[in-house]
Amino acid sequence: MESYKNKQILNNFFKLAIIILLCIIISFLVYKSGGTSGSWAQLNFIPIILAAFFWKEIGGISFAVILGLINGPLMPLNRFTGEYQSLSNWLFRILIYIIIATITASIIRKNEKYDKIIKDNYLKSHINGLYNANKLFIDLDKFTEQDIKFHLIYINITNLNDISKYVDFKIVDEINSYIVKTISTTFNNKTIYSVSANEYMLIIQEPNEQILFNQMQSYINDFIQSIKVNDYCFKLIVKMGILKNDKENFSSIDLFNKVRIAADQGHQLKSGVFYFDKKFEEERKLYNEISGSLYQAIKNNELFLVYQPVIDIINNKIYKTEVLVRWDRGKRKYIGPNIFVKIAEEIGLINLLTKWVEEHAVKTYLTWKEEGVDIKQSVNVSSSELLDEAYRNWTNNLFAQNNLKCEGFGIEITERVLSEDNVKLKKILTDLQDEGYLIEIDDFGTGYNSLMFLGEIPSDIIKIDKYFIDRINIKDVRIIISNIIDAVHKTGATVIAEGVETKEQYMTLKDMGCDMIQGYYFSKPLLSKDFIEYYKTFDINKYL
Ligand code: C2E
Ligand code: CA
Ligand code: CA
Repeated sequence: MESYKNKQILNNFFKLAIIILLCIIISFLVYKSGGTSGSWAQLNFIPIILAAFFWKEIGGISFAVILGLINGPLMPLNRFTGEYQSLSNWLFRILIYIIIATITASIIRKNEKYDKIIKDNYLKSHINGLYNANKLFIDLDKFTEQDIKFHLIYINITNLNDISKYVDFKIVDEINSYIVKTISTTFNNKTIYSVSANEYMLIIQEPNEQILFNQMQSYINDFIQSIKVNDYCFKLIVKMGILKNDKENFSSIDLFNKVRIAADQGHQLKSGVFYFDKKFEEERKLYNEISGSLYQAIKNNELFLVYQPVIDIINNKIYKTEVLVRWDRGKRKYIGPNIFVKIAEEIGLINLLTKWVEEHAVKTYLTWKEEGVDIKQSVNVSSSELLDEAYRNWTNNLFAQNNLKCEGFGIEITERVLSEDNVKLKKILTDLQDEGYLIEIDDFGTGYNSLMFLGEIPSDIIKIDKYFIDRINIKDVRIIISNIIDAVHKTGATVIAEGVETKEQYMTLKDMGCDMIQGYYFSKPLLSKDFIEYYKTFDINKYL
């Protein structure tokens, strides 16, 4: 502040010196050219206008009077004849000078007024008159430049939009005023920046992070109960982010983004205070990158398929293959299907993805047949697809066009989704089973109601999840696996153990009466041509 004042004084002094110098030069020129009768005297307008520009009326009129006097009684009309000006002449000149100074000052004042309005519009929210994000950026830059340590706090009322849509949009202004008031009291009247209709930020120089965190937590706690505005009661969802500026050299835009990312954490419908977490940011970044590029990846055939053999350990032969999708992302980071298939489901691309998988799986099936590899193929299908009649018709068409029988194909559906729309799904699965498809329940044992589905949901195969196989050396787990195998057999279905990686696991499962094995011990998922080779050279004795 002090240095700013000193700068101002120095600045004014410099301007004054320039104007005085101008006055001296002009007066000298007027005198040298013979006096005020010459045209040089018109130059006096320049310092007067400048003075009015810098210091308004006071500066302009002062110089108008000074220059009026210098160019009046103190300056001859004609130096060579020794003639001086009449009183009325130089008084009239002073008057003209004063008028010019006043007009200039008033134009400058008007300009400044408009400037202020423009600046206010630029720096303040038109909704509530608080400072906006532009001002926040200016202040963040200032703090960062001056190396001042601070915390950036972000407050987002996430359900305000819903309240405005579903309850009453007029009430939102009142809720916002309430929020601003409570933020102000909680954070000791610190400047609040209103960065959107439901988002606020504060810059706080509290060195004790714990105190600040507690303060924020207590603010959230106030919203645990509902608030009453007019005759309505509201339960606000308040998400808060906190970010310290001293860890890395964050730019203002980084600080702004990261504190908002912080508040994205936690349950969508629950209030909470969150620190910025780099891992979370990277996950979200990847999510956005995947969701943005997946459509093109499917369209541009960046996907490819691999096939994992499932070994029938009763008859010692390859029974079927599971079709698994991969994404060739070139130099970009590898992403497994467990991540991008989930995202495809969330953003509504799963249908496109499954159709791509099925089309290509069918092509492989036909090629293999020509090569003498005649085995069943299973694809992973989501419940939303099974429930979609258009998708089922599309699959039937695909099979009809290629003269294929459903008997050659299996549908793997994860056990977790079965509880979603049980009755309808059960009917669809029964129909598919009647048509000839193998119905396989994937990841068995990982859902809530595993055993409840046995016998109730039509299924030909139950795939015991890798979770159990990984723990097969634990006696109690062995008992569970053994019981599952027996129970499945009683329903008439067969059992595949997933994720078998060792000979011991294989042997234990064989002793328990497990029908089939899928896992790295036999083979990782293979490219089509490698699968043909594997199939043709398969010999169970290699694994015994
Ligand atoms: P899933 O259906 O349970 O598939 C089995 C996963 O376990 C595959 O992982 C397979 O490579 C892996 N696996 C098999 N044996 C072993 C083993 O011995 N050890 C270990 N560590 N892993 C083993 P992948 O291919 O990464 O697929 C992951 C999940 O992504 C799949 O789990 C499935 O849910 C989904 N997915 C893959 N391809 C598709 C697809 O085309 N459509 C759909 N909807 N989902 C797919
Ligand atoms: Ca599967
Ligand atoms: Ca599985």
